[in-house]
Amino acid sequence: SVVTRFAPSPTGYLHIGGARTALFCWLYARRHGGRFVLRIEDTDLERSTPEAINAILEGMSWLGLDYDDGPFYQTQRFDRYREVIDRMLADGTAYRCYCTRERLDELRADQQARKKKPRYDGRCRDLTEPSVDATHEPVIRFRQPCEGQTVVHDRVKGPVVFDNTELDDLIIARGDGSPTYNFVVVVDDMDMAVSHVIRGDDHLNNSARQVNILKALGVEPPVYAHVPMILDEQGKKLSKRTGAASVMDYRDAGYLPEAVINYLVRLGWAHGDQEIFGLDEMTELFDIDAINHSASSLNPSKLDWLNQHYIKTLPPARVARHLAWHLAAMDIDPAEPGAPDIELVIEAQAERCKTLVEMARNSRFFYREPQEYDEKAARKHLQPSGEVLRGLRERLAIIDAWGGEAAHEVVVAVAEAMGLKMGKVAQPLRVAVAGGPVSPPIDTTLALLGRERTLERLDRAIQ
Ligand code: GLU
Repeated sequence: SVVTRFAPSPTGYLHIGGARTALFCWLYARRHGGRFVLRIEDTDLERSTPEAINAILEGMSWLGLDYDDGPFYQTQRFDRYREVIDRMLADGTAYRCYCTRERLDELRADQQARKKKPRYDGRCRDLTEPSVDATHEPVIRFRQPCEGQTVVHDRVKGPVVFDNTELDDLIIARGDGSPTYNFVVVVDDMDMAVSHVIRGDDHLNNSARQVNILKALGVEPPVYAHVPMILDEQGKKLSKRTGAASVMDYRDAGYLPEAVINYLVRLGWAHGDQEIFGLDEMTELFDIDAINHSASSLNPSKLDWLNQHYIKTLPPARVARHLAWHLAAMDIDPAEPGAPDIELVIEAQAERCKTLVEMARNSRFFYREPQEYDEKAARKHLQPSGEVLRGLRERLAIIDAWGGEAAHEVVVAVAEAMGLKMGKVAQPLRVAVAGGPVSPPIDTTLALLGRERTLERLDRAIQ
């Protein structure tokens, strides 16, 4: 059965590359009715932080990538790693190495001087007793096969062949007993019965080592799929400095998770030339064999386009939670008494907003009286329109059933009575209630705003 895992190191936020890996793993598990595991690789005590763990969990949850098992923390599994190390020492697939730092430094310097690849020379490989001059705790090394080849059968790259002479007897536990990265990954993948390792291709070289350790443990290696990197718009490697590389930055900038997920899946995977994929559809179609073989580049205008698509097409109820978040960031509770139904606000604004930040800003006036008028609009539309505004105020006050249709009739009636074009009436009204020249159609705007707020704002504009 299919088991995939996302195994981030909690040393920073959930960046766009990590989120894509998580999505691919999630999709593959869902597609095959398998399990998706979250594993926090926190063995690097100096660089791992609780804030980073939270940022990863928050990012996953915002994207909607739920996991079936975990989060597991490697720092909580040290007893288990010790157990496997003891077993390997007992069966000879690992050995104690007593070489001092000085000796290893000399060895490396010597190899470098002879233009050879630095590599442990295996001095302690066949010791049967502790070295007599051992004055320090030994490290534990993996007994790497020293001839033949190791093939990583990668579903993206094809078979990748490594000469075993290129691979070192790598240290699996340090002198203080703490296990090292490649080793704990192997134990975890084994214990968690991971069937498919989908990860960034920066890990390809580790895979050869991991395959050999798995074999030594008597375990069939998983299927590997190493996904090419994501580059920035200029085709350069993504870095911390590349703006908006954190998933939460996309939320803050007003993108919907649906849009980000759709954007992510297309960074490295394709299905013909289709661009729009809902989650169910991509789950049905996602396939490792269709992962791109070359790097993909960020494309912010595509993300904008996708975001607009989802703002317009998702049921307003799905957008509501996200818009509410942005309103809350402006200190607005969209459920406060007298506030318009947020789903109706979304319906009214969907066509005219690229992001939820924009939608929240342009909808602020539904909830809060504008602090000041847009200067130019006030000069052009409010100042010469006292009479129009008074006429509107009078008729709007006595509407029987408040609503868009009734409001529209009032605008028409005032325009007719004063011999004006509709715009000469609607635009002053708009500036009076919204504070500026931009809002949804005036009838919708008034319907949402309600009678009380509309009249209050007209009164203020008339003074
Ligand atoms: N912890 C590694 C990282 O964050 C991923 C390791 C893996 O997927 O095997 O890059």
